[in-house]
Amino acid sequence: MRKEDEVMDSAAQVLAQVDSIQDWLEELYVHLHQNPELSMQETQTSALMASKLKELGFVVQTVGGGVVGVLENGAGPTVMFRADMDGLPVREETGLPYASVSTQVDRYGVEQPTMHACGHDFHMSAALGAARLLAAHKDAWSGTYIALFQPAEETYGGAQSMVDAGLAQLIPHPDVALAQHVFGAPFAGQVATNSGPSMSATTSIKVTLFGRGSHGSMPHLSVDPVVMAAAVVLRLQGIVARELKPGTFGVVTVGSIHGGTQGNIIPETVTLRLNIRAYDMQVRQSLLEAIERIVVSEAKASGAPKEPEFEIYDPFPVTDNDASVTEKVTEAFVNHFGPERVKHWEPITASEDFSIIPRALGTPYCYWSFGGFAPDTEAPGNHSPKFGPLMQPTLRTGTEAALSAVLAFLGK
Ligand code: ZN
Ligand code: ZN
Repeated sequence: MRKEDEVMDSAAQVLAQVDSIQDWLEELYVHLHQNPELSMQETQTSALMASKLKELGFVVQTVGGGVVGVLENGAGPTVMFRADMDGLPVREETGLPYASVSTQVDRYGVEQPTMHACGHDFHMSAALGAARLLAAHKDAWSGTYIALFQPAEETYGGAQSMVDAGLAQLIPHPDVALAQHVFGAPFAGQVATNSGPSMSATTSIKVTLFGRGSHGSMPHLSVDPVVMAAAVVLRLQGIVARELKPGTFGVVTVGSIHGGTQGNIIPETVTLRLNIRAYDMQVRQSLLEAIERIVVSEAKASGAPKEPEFEIYDPFPVTDNDASVTEKVTEAFVNHFGPERVKHWEPITASEDFSIIPRALGTPYCYWSFGGFAPDTEAPGNHSPKFGPLMQPTLRTGTEAALSAVLAFLGK
């Protein structure tokens, strides 16, 4: 009882300082918001994160396009907090006075408008805010704190690139990993947690169907891959409707279909690009198997001269929050924010690559959401050109959430 009171006290002391850094936080946020960089091209952003962490006394390394800072402070657990750094190729239409007018040449050589349309600027600001207060109040906690800034969350590959660059060998083993995301729900000023699967696993599949080309007037000389593709697309709709147990979550979307050049030519090939979602890796596997079975069978039914080809890419794992870590984080949130500001987070069908890092390190983790929009406004979705969360109380809430969760494990 006594000891728990002390934990609350030391955490509360640090959390009380969040107000005092708001000017600094807002300035940092506006700078990041006006200077978004595309995935795996976060050069200026990662340099800024590294220099801020060094100023605060962290031991800093760049790893696989990301930045990791370690702050050792005596005996105790090691806690990692992760933020993502990338912006999106979106032209900002929020009308905010500090809206981005930035552009960047993408990896294909095309100049793109850039925008933090997914709020990663909030994640970085909150992470640096927490790092600053932890560095300034080392008397209030003990253990090791790892601030990790990853590249390329949006395009897949950022978390994996840090793992592949040997992250596990470069940092102390974290006992807990934490991360957060700003969304339209809950409302600004609120946080939301969920134990277990919280964001879906996804993967994309490129399917190439092979036919035999011919003049459009001589279909009898062809094996028409356009008709084959049409049959495949319709047949795939039966997977979720007829093969998954009712109530089991799964999505199969054919998002792209390409074949042919003009109306009087039957093409040789058609390519389809599919995306699937699931909360369960076994469901994901059964979706993949069903897709392969249907595509191969339809090609056979059409008399295709060659078996279809499959390319699986951009696999994101399910974000599956550890029950005991989530319980501790939720308790810390309720203590700090009060129960009315801590919501239950309904699992969402979007996906995240954060969990690749704790999975590779064998570390339990919790990922939560915090709100960016007032209750009386209609929140645009993440990635929308109109995605402009309120600067406040969003920045303050994100920083307080990061700090209270970290201090739940490191607080004295
Ligand atoms: Zn996003
Ligand atoms: Zn995001």
